[in-house]
Amino acid sequence: MKVEMSHMTWDEVKDAIAEEKMVIVPTGATEAHGPHMPTDTDTHQAEWMAIELAKRVKAVVAPPLAYGISKTFEHFPGTISLSIPIYQEVVYEVGSALIKQGFKHLLFLNGNRPNGTSNDAVARRLIDDHDQEYDFMVTAVSYWEPGAQKIHELRRSGVGGMGHGGEFETSFQLATRPDLVHMDRLEGVYAPLVGWDLVAPVIPSRTYRRRPTPDTNHASIFGDPHEASAETGKEMLEAALNGLESMIKELQPAYEERK
Ligand SMILES: [Zn+2]
Repeated sequence: MKVEMSHMTWDEVKDAIAEEKMVIVPTGATEAHGPHMPTDTDTHQAEWMAIELAKRVKAVVAPPLAYGISKTFEHFPGTISLSIPIYQEVVYEVGSALIKQGFKHLLFLNGNRPNGTSNDAVARRLIDDHDQEYDFMVTAVSYWEPGAQKIHELRRSGVGGMGHGGEFETSFQLATRPDLVHMDRLEGVYAPLVGWDLVAPVIPSRTYRRRPTPDTNHASIFGDPHEASAETGKEMLEAALNGLESMIKELQPAYEERK
């Protein structure tokens, strides 16, 4: 089943709209992910999840946003960040275009933690601006959230080991494109557990601190990549996908009858 909108003609997209298929917009980032992973890590992860989820729930996937909110790592070469207002405008424009074309369910599937609160704000704004004219709903979620409990149970690192470039993301890359991961470059790299985590139960507040720079020998990692493996990665991806699929089932039970 072809799910990528970028590989479809415009009338194939028109058919998808007529069939009331959900459209998934993956939101990624271009940023440093340690000495061992490529800068498109988050974009790849959001798009990979979007495509696999779309196959399961008969949705389509819009082209991913490769630029997100990455100011945390802007001192590291290869990081390209949008400012928050511009990022929100871009997501808003993409969402508005899809709503005006007739899509009835938009899913912002996020792969870079700092984009998450902005995606929520944009989802709210799309409803506030367009709900009198168009009949639609918008869902905003980070791909690890619905399956977080299950992913947490599969981990080897302690709480704080799965922030950024740590066990979870490294396992994801090892499971899906190991040729781009350089585990040997982690030798001697100090990557301590951090005060936050993508999937562990944490205090529900966010604290913003001074950002890391390469000249303090920071590895651009928050968490512990040493515990990563392709095997756990595969199990974590399955857990994440199952969580997302159940979420869609609740929001949009009609997808099961679709071809
Ligand atoms: Zn990441």
